[in-house]
Amino acid sequence: MMLWARLLGLVKAVVEDVVFDEDDECIVVSVRPRKATKRRCGRCGKRCPGYDQGDGRRRWRALDLGTTRAFLEADSPRVRCLEHGVVAAQVPWARHGAGHTYAFDDTAAWLVTHCSKSAVRDLLRIAWRTVGSIVTRVVTDAEAATDRFANLTRIGIDEISYKRGHKYLTVVVDHDTGVLLWAHDGRNQKTLEKFFDRLGDERCAKIRLVSADAAEWIANVVAARCPNAELCLDPFHIVAWATKALDEVRREVWNTARRNGQKAVAKELKGARYALWKNPEDLTDRQGAKLASIAHTNQRLYRAYLLKEQLRRVFALKGAAGIALLDHWLKWARRCRIPSFVKLAKSITTHRAGIEAALTHGLSNARVESVNTKLRLLTRVAFGFRSPNALIALAMLDLGGLCPPLPGRVAA
Ligand SMILES: [Zn+2]
Repeated sequence: MMLWARLLGLVKAVVEDVVFDEDDECIVVSVRPRKATKRRCGRCGKRCPGYDQGDGRRRWRALDLGTTRAFLEADSPRVRCLEHGVVAAQVPWARHGAGHTYAFDDTAAWLVTHCSKSAVRDLLRIAWRTVGSIVTRVVTDAEAATDRFANLTRIGIDEISYKRGHKYLTVVVDHDTGVLLWAHDGRNQKTLEKFFDRLGDERCAKIRLVSADAAEWIANVVAARCPNAELCLDPFHIVAWATKALDEVRREVWNTARRNGQKAVAKELKGARYALWKNPEDLTDRQGAKLASIAHTNQRLYRAYLLKEQLRRVFALKGAAGIALLDHWLKWARRCRIPSFVKLAKSITTHRAGIEAALTHGLSNARVESVNTKLRLLTRVAFGFRSPNALIALAMLDLGGLCPPLPGRVAA
């Protein structure tokens, strides 16, 4: 019987009997908790008086034994907890309310971060929804057991859409470790406040830098909750604004050319989109020639292009040199007489403090974006899970460093 306990990775439990269930074609191992672990609340683990015998015998799915499915079977008495009322007593082999053992849960969680969806399903012979429930409880346990929010000083905040843009998650990443710290359903002030609530005032005060895009709701919450933090606006987003402004100019010039019957000019501009978008060092010879021709024939568009390029240069330089160039850029843009860039200069002036902070501290949202790219792939894997919590749990396993080791592999 000791051997069976060993085989199933059971601790604090006694094996009483092992039978083969012909009907279900599985091995059924009868167990009972050791005395010292009896009569504890299934939710909080506190010792409490017994209540009744519950619904009699209960089964928990264990890891397969060889090629055969295996179950643990035991009485499931109830206890009366002062805090939680009448609840099932804790068992040493499974999480509260779970139909699978710890070893089974942890194996499923490990597999889901290492194998394909169908491999996990086929190997463990469980439905994908069950995997969702398992990862949720594994992550809940892991989060309760570790303090992941200690010593945070630099964080990045972003949002990610899933379900074809119908649903959003707000995510927080640690810049120093690159680890996903937290994710939550929704994208507004209320959502983000939940993160800082969880962090607590003392730890909020230790946050020094926060990177984000220019979303107002992020700026508002950070300003209200992190008294010592500087908000760094993501350079990538600012450059994207300039690219958008440039494209407005291109379309405007193209429309004018078409209206005036300048067919050749219109045709050239239509094909010039990529030449204008790309970084000059990445241009093909043909695109380079196109750009040179625009410089020659269309000075307004070429000026817009130079404005975009110089703004990009601001973020490549960074530091004091970047800030000096930004000053120069703003002066130029304000009097360039191209409406979309005059408007851009206004927006940049509004967000000046956040942009300067990004230049000074060299902090971008790149690390957050890379976590988001992986998270986007996970949203597809999580398809079929019933709740966003299961998707978040999957993300925490894979990107938050909460994946448990395979059972029986850690030196005690
Ligand atoms: Zn309790």
